Order: sequence, then C-alpha cells, then structure tokens
Amino acid sequence: MLPSRASVVVAGGGPAGFMAAIAAAEAGLRPGPDGPAVLVLEATAETLHKVTISGGGRCNVTHACWDPLSLVGHYPRGAQALRGPFSRFASGDAVAWFDAHGLELVEEADGRMFPRSNRSSAVVETLRRAAATGGVVVAPGRALKGAERLTEGGFLLTLRSGEQIVCERLVLATGSHPSGHRLAISLGHGLVPPVPSLFTLSLAQHPLASLAGVVMEPVELEWLPPPAPDAPASQRRQRHRQRGTVLITHWGLSGPATLRLTAFAARALRERGYRGSLRVDWSGGRTADELEHLLETCRREQPRRQLAAVRPWPGLSRRLWQHLIESCGSDPTQRWADLGRRERQALVMALRDSRYAIAGRGPFGEEFVTAGGIPLGEVDLATMESRCCPGLHLVGELLDVDGVTGGFNFQHCWSSGWVAGMAMAEALAQPTVLPRPT
Ligand SMILES: Cc1cc2nc3c(=O)[nH]c(=O)nc-3n(C[C@H](O)[C@H](O)[C@H](O)COP(=O)(O)OP(=O)(O)OC[C@H]3O[C@@H](n4cnc5c(N)ncnc54)[C@H](O)[C@@H]3O)c2cc1C
Repeated sequence: MLPSRASVVVAGGGPAGFMAAIAAAEAGLRPGPDGPAVLVLEATAETLHKVTISGGGRCNVTHACWDPLSLVGHYPRGAQALRGPFSRFASGDAVAWFDAHGLELVEEADGRMFPRSNRSSAVVETLRRAAATGGVVVAPGRALKGAERLTEGGFLLTLRSGEQIVCERLVLATGSHPSGHRLAISLGHGLVPPVPSLFTLSLAQHPLASLAGVVMEPVELEWLPPPAPDAPASQRRQRHRQRGTVLITHWGLSGPATLRLTAFAARALRERGYRGSLRVDWSGGRTADELEHLLETCRREQPRRQLAAVRPWPGLSRRLWQHLIESCGSDPTQRWADLGRRERQALVMALRDSRYAIAGRGPFGEEFVTAGGIPLGEVDLATMESRCCPGLHLVGELLDVDGVTGGFNFQHCWSSGWVAGMAMAEALAQPTVLPRPT
C-alpha cells in the first residue's frame, strides 16, 4: 500500500531522484505521523536502470575535474549557470559522498572515475542502501500522472494507477521522459525542445569503412554545415570544432572527439538535418611545413622502402596511412625516392584536411543524453526550486543541461539532486499541517 501523504515526493527513481531523496533524508527530514519523510515514485519496475547500463556496465560516476570553474566547461547546455550548484557540490564532493557511503571511486588516466569493482551494480547497491538506511520509501511501478498545487501549499498528486498522495514538496526527476515535461508544463514551466546529444556520425558511402576499429589521437574534427543562405550571420560564422580521440566504426566516426562535437553542435546539427561534411585533421596538429619536413625526412632516409611501409610519425595508424596514400591516387608500393612534389603536397593535404560527407546520426542506441528540457532561467539554482511554482524542485536531465561524455551527466545529477535535497530539508525543518486527499 502506498502512503497517502509524504513530506517529499520524488517522481523518478533515477540517479538525480535518488540523490535528492537521500540528501533530504540524511539532512534530518523526519517521517510525519501518517507518512514517510521521502517517497520515491518510479514508473518502471526497476529503479536506477540507466545507472545499471551506464558506462558499458561499469558506470562512469564522475570526472576528476575538481574546480567548478573548469567543470562547467564540459556542459554544452548549462555551462556558466551551473557554477552555483557546482560550488555547493562538485566532483570532489561526489567522490567523498560515495566514499562515506562505502563506495570507493578510482580515476582512470583520462580523468573518468569508476567504482573500484568496475561494476555499475556497486553504484546501484550503494544508492539503494543509502536510501533504505535514510528511511526513504521507494515505490517502483508507480508513475506520476498529474500534480496540482494546493492553495494552502503543497501538492495533490495523481498516479497512473488512480492513487492520490498529498505532499509538501515535489521533486521532478523524470529525466528526458515526456511525462516529466508535461508535468512541469502543467505547473507553469516552459520547455526547450528536446534534441539528441552525444551521438556518433554516419559517413556517406563510408570511405573509411575498411578501417573500422582504428583509433587515432589527437584528431581535430570540424563540422562544415551545408550552405544555408537564410541563416543569420552569427550562425554562419559559428564554428564547431573539437580535438581528441576518434574511433573509426563500421558506419562512420565515434570516440570522445566525435561525441564532444555532436554534443556542442547538437542543436545546429538537428537544424541542418544532420548533414554537411566533416573536415578531419589527422596530423595531430602539425603544420603543413612540419608535415612536409617529415615526408622529406622519410624520402631522404628511407628512399628504397615503399610508401606504406614507412609512416611519417609512429603514432599514425598503418592502415590509415595506407588509406590516405590511396585516397591521394598514389601507389602504396611505390618507393619513397620516387615521391614527387605534387604527390607530397597531396599527402600533406590528406593528413591535414580530409573531407567526408555526413550521412546522418549513428545507429539508434548510441544516444546517451538529451539536450533541451526545462529552461534553467525558470529554476533557482541555489535550491533547484522552481521560480514558477513554489515547492516544486527540478533536477537531473529533465533540465536544459547536458554534459559531454566522461561522467559529467551523472555529476550534474549528483549536484542538482544534493542541492535540492538539502534545500527541501531546510525548508521543511518547520513542519506544516497537510490537508487530506479527497
Ligand atoms: C546507455 C547509456 C549510458 C550512459 N552512461 C553514462 C555514464 O557512464 N556516465 C554519465 O555521466 N552518464 C551516462 N549516461 C547518461 C546518464 O545515464 C543520464 O544523464 C542520467 O541517467 C540522467 O539521470 P536522471 O535521474 O535525470 O534521469 P533518468 O536516469 O532517466 O531517470 C529518470 C527516471 O524517472 C522515471 N520516470 C519517468 N517519468 C516518470 C513518471 N511520470 N513518474 C515516475 N517515474 C518516472 C524513469 O523511468 C526513470 O527511471 C548514459 C546514458 C545511457 C542511455
């Protein structure tokens, strides 16, 4: 049986909802005479599902980026506005929080942080245990359908099952699910239209298909949108470039640099139908003169060897190098001594400025997050409380916030959830009398 009242109801049993519930409970929110302090409603049968499947089953919990000012740079949507919540609870606080709850996080060479066991189930167990210890009541299979703000304060909630609950504070933590958007809109909020972020790219007639599995680092990617003469000048001038590791896949390009590019350009890519082309600089940032010099050195020092057998620098993938030679119309078996000036220039061009037509987004299932959601301007970021509807808090991916890959999306859930939980506990320190549901 579901209680008919609770001090706080959290709609959404994902990471943001769990953190809000646990923080409120641990901050001292006590159960009332006829209801728990905190009740989490989860529409599906399984709470924390995305945590379970995250990070390839390992859960990239956060990122070793300790300074809130640097942290905000990893959020294409949110950015500077997140300085407030991150100054209260950032990556270091998340690491300490999990440590205090019995879960050690370890840092990888690229800064991503995972549970020591490398199992996402350890994160799920930690959150579920902390919720149970704090007295949080979790109700799976209970979807919030409607919420009405009562004139005397608090909310009357209607569940899909028809059950009703009265609460003083309501937290919407429904992720990118449309039902959460509808609930927020019904309580006075606007919505920045959701679009996918963090996806891979498919290439037309995939010229690199035979290189699937090749990883190159660092590579610079630039998206060159299709011409749009009607677009405002500011949009036409805007450049979308990223540098980092690229993975060549069976359908196109993936890897952190591709995901970062599609995250920062998510809305512009959507507006242009996921078309245009990619300029790829495989050279690791070398100038044309430096590349000329490297090729000249190969020609001088190894004149009798074949082009494909000698790479200009050791980090250049053999398969990619052979492909680039062929893409310039040169013969990979020709000797370095026979490499003419024109061919050398063509190779420099291929290394620095290869162009590939984009066919669209990568296959379904590659999307990790949604850009768009409830506008941050409608939320007090010191408490995550709605500016449109007092007593309502909004956290996690429901908001118009998304991070790049690397643990930043969960970090926003921990930060916004914790800030909301603490603010609710403080606001509810003075108990109020709630009406009964009719
Ligand atoms: C495959 C995959 C891997 C990922 N890996 C990582 C990673 O390693 N690191 C990282 O930082 N990020 C990762 N992410 C992103 C991360 O999972 C999300 O940013 C994060 O889960 C958002 O948390 P949330 O609590 O806001 O929403 P969600 O996790 O989506 O949780 C919302 C919950 O609300 C429930 N719900 C919806 N509507 C209602 C309703 N009306 N009533 C009651 N309940 C409702 C949903 O069923 C859901 O359980 C990954 C995402 C995916 C898809």
